[in-house]
Amino acid sequence: MNGKIRRVTGPLVEAEGMRGARMHDIVYLGDERLMSEVIKIKGDVVSLQVYEDTTGVKPGEPAENTFEPLSVELGPGILTSIYDGVQRPLNELRAMSGDFIARGLVSKPLDRKKKWHFTPAVKKGDKISAGQIIGSVAETKIIEHKILAPPNVNGVVKDIREGDYSVEDPIGSLDTLELKLFHKWPVKAARPIRKKLKPDEPLVTGSRVIDVFFPIAKGGTAAIPGPFGAGKTVVQHQLAKWVDADVIVYVGCGERGNEMTDVLDEFPKLKDPKTGESLMERTTLIANTSNMPVAAREASVYTGITLAEYYRDMGYNTAMMADSSSRWAEAMREISARLEEMPGEEGYPAYLGSRLASFYERAGKVETLSGKISSASIVGAVSPPGGDLSEPVTQNTLRIVRVFWSLDARLADRRHFPSINWLTSYSLYTDTLQQWFEENMSKDMTSMREDAMAILQRESELLEIVQLVGADALPHEERIILETAKMLREDFLQQDAFHEIDTHCPSKKQHDMLAVILSFHDRCIQALDSGVKLDDVVESPLREDIAKMKYIPSDKSEAELKALMEKIKGAFN
Ligand code: ADP
Repeated sequence: MNGKIRRVTGPLVEAEGMRGARMHDIVYLGDERLMSEVIKIKGDVVSLQVYEDTTGVKPGEPAENTFEPLSVELGPGILTSIYDGVQRPLNELRAMSGDFIARGLVSKPLDRKKKWHFTPAVKKGDKISAGQIIGSVAETKIIEHKILAPPNVNGVVKDIREGDYSVEDPIGSLDTLELKLFHKWPVKAARPIRKKLKPDEPLVTGSRVIDVFFPIAKGGTAAIPGPFGAGKTVVQHQLAKWVDADVIVYVGCGERGNEMTDVLDEFPKLKDPKTGESLMERTTLIANTSNMPVAAREASVYTGITLAEYYRDMGYNTAMMADSSSRWAEAMREISARLEEMPGEEGYPAYLGSRLASFYERAGKVETLSGKISSASIVGAVSPPGGDLSEPVTQNTLRIVRVFWSLDARLADRRHFPSINWLTSYSLYTDTLQQWFEENMSKDMTSMREDAMAILQRESELLEIVQLVGADALPHEERIILETAKMLREDFLQQDAFHEIDTHCPSKKQHDMLAVILSFHDRCIQALDSGVKLDDVVESPLREDIAKMKYIPSDKSEAELKALMEKIKGAFN
């Protein structure tokens, strides 16, 4: 039933005569048919948050309810695409209206003309259960797109045919519905799974500080604050390039237009190091910049996680990056204020925490409806104003996520990259991942990590003393701790994203490098005990070899680091 606009306040519109409206229905507003969503209902009057700029919209214009929630199209063509927050393909919009995207444009998320070669995985007479894989198409050079029965449909296959189809062509039918290459799904509903599993495998990133000290699990959640210039962009690019996920969903939410332009320009140029193909072959980008209406930010976050869940349901490990969740929270604050809701901390709505939680809870390692084991991981950037981590968005996020990579502008100033502070970061996955590390890297991985971290923590205490009395006043053993900590920082934690070899460090090499530094440390202590002079130990030429470890190519690192271990042993003997 159609109603009429009664009041317009920025991104919030009130419409009357909307009997039968339900929460989250999509409503088209005005003569330009702007897209909006029902967020409050009082009798036949509804409040709508509008996904497009409302300039010029006036009372009396029509409001047309679709009686459907905001949904995305799930089918081949998502990868390599760049979408706005409501899954409209940006390239299409630009083709229609130029660089400044006009309002009320409608464009289908999936290309209607493109043909895909479909190969069925089921045959006539088969019983199909919800979410089952019924066939596949080659979506990109590296990703085979499994075609899934919608998660809410069961039936028996009446017919199904191999062939070249566009997304709207029938590819066959069940007794209950016609099958196509895509189905729709409402973004605010988590896609169903059989069960959640314990996240007990790491999402390996190739970054030493992350994988060894603050690992994230496949299906895990992490937050990363982004003080300006601290290297957030580089960290995110590194993650997108190197994490051992099959599919990446990158959501630029409310960041400045030029930052998003960087991503849009750079990502298609980045090469996937594993396949040599463009990174876009396994990536989809969702761009929603700060000059787009605030309500669309929320949509972009939900659209992103729904796409990540969809590829998870095919059996892939997916990783979603949201930059930045603070901008989404600010949008919530703005809408909430306009709704005249009771404000909570710093004006954010009281439901800030529960909204963030319900988003991050969609991450997980799961058994899918089709029986596959796969995962969706979420890395959310937060941008605390002035770097103040005590503000509500950061605090609420930290209550939910299990890993915190604390980017530190002071480290970046000293050119220590990645500028992840080892004293303030944490990962709550180290225990659940312990078994994996011990089985796949080495039995002594946990103890090595603990030893190295103890040395780094001891360093920070000792440095305070050194500031007061100078390093010479310290006992020899503590001087060694300072030297080892320096090695750990410079030769292990620091990693140059722009160096051909150092940009990515495989797990085995990470382990071997750490083993070398710790073994050098132990031998220094032993040497001192047996009367060797401190300077001889500290100025050992071996330190140059240690400093060069990171530049050893991965295929040679095992042999060369083993040789270095022997050399250290020989030198001290
Ligand atoms: P932010 O996005 O936080 O403003 P950037 O990610 O653009 O900061 O990083 C700023 C600069 O710091 C980069 O241009 C680069 O020179 C340097 N940098 C950041 N991370 C690394 C890294 N891992 N290795 C080498 N240089 C880095």
